[in-house]
Amino acid sequence: MPLENMNVMLGKAKDAGYAVGAFNILDYNSTKAVILAAEEANAPVIIQTSAKTVIFWGTTAIITWVKQLADSSSVPIALHLDHCKDLDLIEECIDSGWTSVMIDASSKPFEENLSLSRQVVKMARPKNITVEAELGAIVGVEDDIHVKHQDAHLADSEQAIEFCEKVEPDCFAPAIGTAHGVYKGEPKIAYDLLEQIAAEVAPPIALHGGTGLADDVFKKCISLGCAKVNISTQLKYAFIDGFVNYHNANNTEYNPLKVLDAQFDALKTGIVENINLFGSAGKA
Ligand SMILES: [Zn+2]
Repeated sequence: MPLENMNVMLGKAKDAGYAVGAFNILDYNSTKAVILAAEEANAPVIIQTSAKTVIFWGTTAIITWVKQLADSSSVPIALHLDHCKDLDLIEECIDSGWTSVMIDASSKPFEENLSLSRQVVKMARPKNITVEAELGAIVGVEDDIHVKHQDAHLADSEQAIEFCEKVEPDCFAPAIGTAHGVYKGEPKIAYDLLEQIAAEVAPPIALHGGTGLADDVFKKCISLGCAKVNISTQLKYAFIDGFVNYHNANNTEYNPLKVLDAQFDALKTGIVENINLFGSAGKA
């Protein structure tokens, strides 16, 4: 099927109380693992690219892999640019065939975040490209944060309402206490804030920092209104461990294609598990 934007898939997910997985790919093998996992589970899926990955490969290579795999696939697939602060790169992705983009101006003061996010909506909407925008700061667990400090990074519900009314993003990422990277302890998630924001803003909510959350945490966040769940760190681990573990177990065999097969299997197995957990299996 041709690529689509996130509107239909996230709208259905929000209405029915499940979430669509958004997986950060690294190369062709990981892109194929995401799409074949979605096929196996018969689920809609979001292929997500970090700005770094786009810069590493260039837009032409990525759009070629994704379109080729999507064309022979029967599930709805969106291609989304994750956390991007650079309007030129956002424009390049829009022009190259991405169907969705995220503007992350969350480190800027509120008014500036509003204005940059609105600017991206103006660029994207006439071309039928969906836009995700962020409010508050979704920190990395490597950032040394204390509980008090973490609270200061959370989105504010009044501002969230104003932000969504003025920006009209297609998907909204409020900071609710999850973090990027690998959790060292129990994450402190502001469920009340999530519930309040999800009930009062129009767009579906994106949950960032998904890797490492317990199953019941995912389920609770989805039940409170998260319709998109981002998984990135988990794929980085499967990508490297899948490769290294195979080689360590077969260290006299120098057959790269077998190593890539093992990497593919490690990636795909984890992704199918995520899709089942998020409730999107069978929803293609
Ligand atoms: Zn994120």
